[in-house]
Amino acid sequence: MNKCYQCGGKLKRENIDIARYWGKDLIALNDVPSLVCTKCGERYFEAKVSSKIDERIQGVLERRSFIEKIDVPVVQF
Ligand SMILES: [Zn+2]
Repeated sequence: MNKCYQCGGKLKRENIDIARYWGKDLIALNDVPSLVCTKCGERYFEAKVSSKIDERIQGVLERRSFIEKIDVPVVQF
């Protein structure tokens, strides 16, 4: 993949921090390799990265394996 599905813009490789909900659990993942559109900012993950994200989340849920715990502010929109 080298072009954005949304706008056709160029994609650049960048490690980003993301957060994923898993049920009611919110899990933050740091330094995830991604492809970011230089035009619209849309972010993509390669298939192998997506499965690694799922793997990491499973690790947190099953083995409580994580590097730190942070407080997250929640607001009603
Ligand atoms: Zn784009």
